[in-house]
Amino acid sequence: MVTANKQTPPEVRARIEATAKAALRTGLPLEQDRAAMIGLASALRRILQDETDPGRVVRAAKQATDIFEVSFDKNPPGRPLDCKKGCAYCCSRLVGVSAPEAFLAAEHISRSQNPFLAKEVVFDRAVHTIGVDAVGRDKNRTACALLEEGICAIYADRPLACRANASHSVAACLQAYEGRGSNIPAPLVHLFLGDRCRMAIYAALRSLGYPAVSYELSEAVTLILGADDARDRWYAGEDIFAGVQAPPDRSEEMDAVISEIAEVISF
Ligand code: SF4
Repeated sequence: MVTANKQTPPEVRARIEATAKAALRTGLPLEQDRAAMIGLASALRRILQDETDPGRVVRAAKQATDIFEVSFDKNPPGRPLDCKKGCAYCCSRLVGVSAPEAFLAAEHISRSQNPFLAKEVVFDRAVHTIGVDAVGRDKNRTACALLEEGICAIYADRPLACRANASHSVAACLQAYEGRGSNIPAPLVHLFLGDRCRMAIYAALRSLGYPAVSYELSEAVTLILGADDARDRWYAGEDIFAGVQAPPDRSEEMDAVISEIAEVISF
């Protein structure tokens, strides 16, 4: 494993930087390759450190989601998915996002000309999901505030949790949606890559002293949309998402790995 700290010799730093470039070029492998995750986390940290770019937090999220797609294209699931455009049984579930992903979704909404994504109408829909926990969301089947007639209105910039949510059986998804079961046959490649990309984001955040937790999508996004200076306050270290529902999205073991990687890339 590549290891580094503040006294990291130049040759080890160079190896980490080369690994970062490789991760951006070729994506993550479908194996427990710590070096590739370190590379991606290091690349995301570099983006977040670029104070010349006021949109760096959005760029970091975009980079992580691009890597998910590149990695996924190289490692498609072994059998076909049942997911299709217009099928949205999974879009009534609680979605957890990192701060960069929330800023990416908010940026998409702010730039969109789609009346469905006008701030006020997003706020009106989001009141039905904000503060509702995972059990309540499953029970109420309240659609995500960004779901427009069965299609994600921010599809190109949807969070990693949504990208990782896939199924081999729409019948199982319908059963889960109706509260008649929860055994959805999900492709492991989606879950694996979603976890790895999220962990890289959290490691980059933790290495820079930002909170490395997930927030409920609609609450985090409306909080950003409701304040013109949300991004600057977040850059300045203010915990602007304090109090936002934080869905658990990792085991203790995953959190320990995030801390290890954060330490390794902090040089
Ligand atoms: S962000 Fe898009 S994909 Fe994710 S739950 Fe909402 S509508 Fe569905």
